[in-house]
Amino acid sequence: MSTLPGKVALVTGSTSGIGLGIATALARAGAKVMLHGLGSAEEVQRLSSELARETGVQVEVNQADLRDPAAVQEMIRATETLLGGVDVLVNNAGIQFVSPVEDFPDERWNAIQDIVLNASFRAIRAVVPGMKARGWGRILNVVSAHGLVASPYKSAYVSAKHGQVGLTRSVALELAETAITCNAICPGYVRTPLVEGQIASQAEVHKMGREQVIRDVILAVQPTRRFVEVEEVAALALFLCGDLARSITGAAIPIDGGWTAR
Ligand code: NAD
Repeated sequence: MSTLPGKVALVTGSTSGIGLGIATALARAGAKVMLHGLGSAEEVQRLSSELARETGVQVEVNQADLRDPAAVQEMIRATETLLGGVDVLVNNAGIQFVSPVEDFPDERWNAIQDIVLNASFRAIRAVVPGMKARGWGRILNVVSAHGLVASPYKSAYVSAKHGQVGLTRSVALELAETAITCNAICPGYVRTPLVEGQIASQAEVHKMGREQVIRDVILAVQPTRRFVEVEEVAALALFLCGDLARSITGAAIPIDGGWTAR
C-alpha cells in the first residue's frame, strides 16, 4: 500500500543492514529515496538501481562521509536538489568500536560521536526549516538498546547513543505543536555487518570463540535468545512515518527481544 506517495526520504547509512531495510520499506510505500552510505560507488549504484526497478520510485545516491560537518550539509542540499525537500529523515548511520575505556583511542571515540550523534544533530538542524514550511515531517533516529542501557567496552557507542535519545526528546518537545514527530528506535542485536564485526572483536576482548560470543555475550542479553530481523525494525520505522503515529513523539521505542525489560 502506498502510504508515503511523493514524500522524500533520506536514510543515512542505507547502503547496508538496517538502513537498507528501512529505505526499502519507505520506497515500497511510495517515497522517493536518497540512499546514503560508504562503500564502492559501483555497489551503491547497483543497490539504487535494484530498488528503483523493484519499487518504481526515484532513488538517488549520496556518499557523504558523516564525520565531515560540511558533507552533512551538502548531503541535505543534494537531496533537495535531486528529489525535493526532505519529509522523512532517518538518522541511521553508525559504527562500533569495542575496547576497555583506558585504551580507547581518541580517533575512534571522535568518529563514533561524529557519525552517530553530531551528524544526527546537523541533519536535523538542516531539515527542520523545510519540514516546518511544508507543515509535515518525520524524524527517526535509529539508536539502540544501548541508548537506554550500557554494556562494558562500548563507552563511546553507549555515550553517543544515550546522546541520541536526549536529542530525540529535546527536538520532539520543540516541534510538538507542529505536524513533525521525532522518535528513537532502539533495536537489540540485529545480524548485520556491524554485528558480524563485533562478534570478532568481542571474541578477542572476552577471549572466547565466535559461537560462544553469540551465545554468552550477544544473545545472553536478549531474553528471546534470537536476533531481531531487519524487516521488523523497518516495519516499525514505516509505522512511525504514518498518520496513525502522529501522537508518538519523543519516544525511545525498544525493539530488543525484552533486553531492556530486565
Ligand atoms: P551496518 O554496518 O550494516 O551499516 C552502517 C551504515 O552506516 C553503512 O551504510 C555505512 O556505509 C554507514 N556509515 C558508516 N560510517 C559512515 C561514515 N563515516 N559516513 C557515512 N556513512 C557511514 O550497520 P547496522 O547494523 O545496519 O546499523 C545501523 C544503525 O543501527 C547504527 O546506527 C547502529 O548503531 C544501529 N544499531 C544496530 C544494531 C545491530 O545489532 N545491528 C543494534 C542496535 C542499533
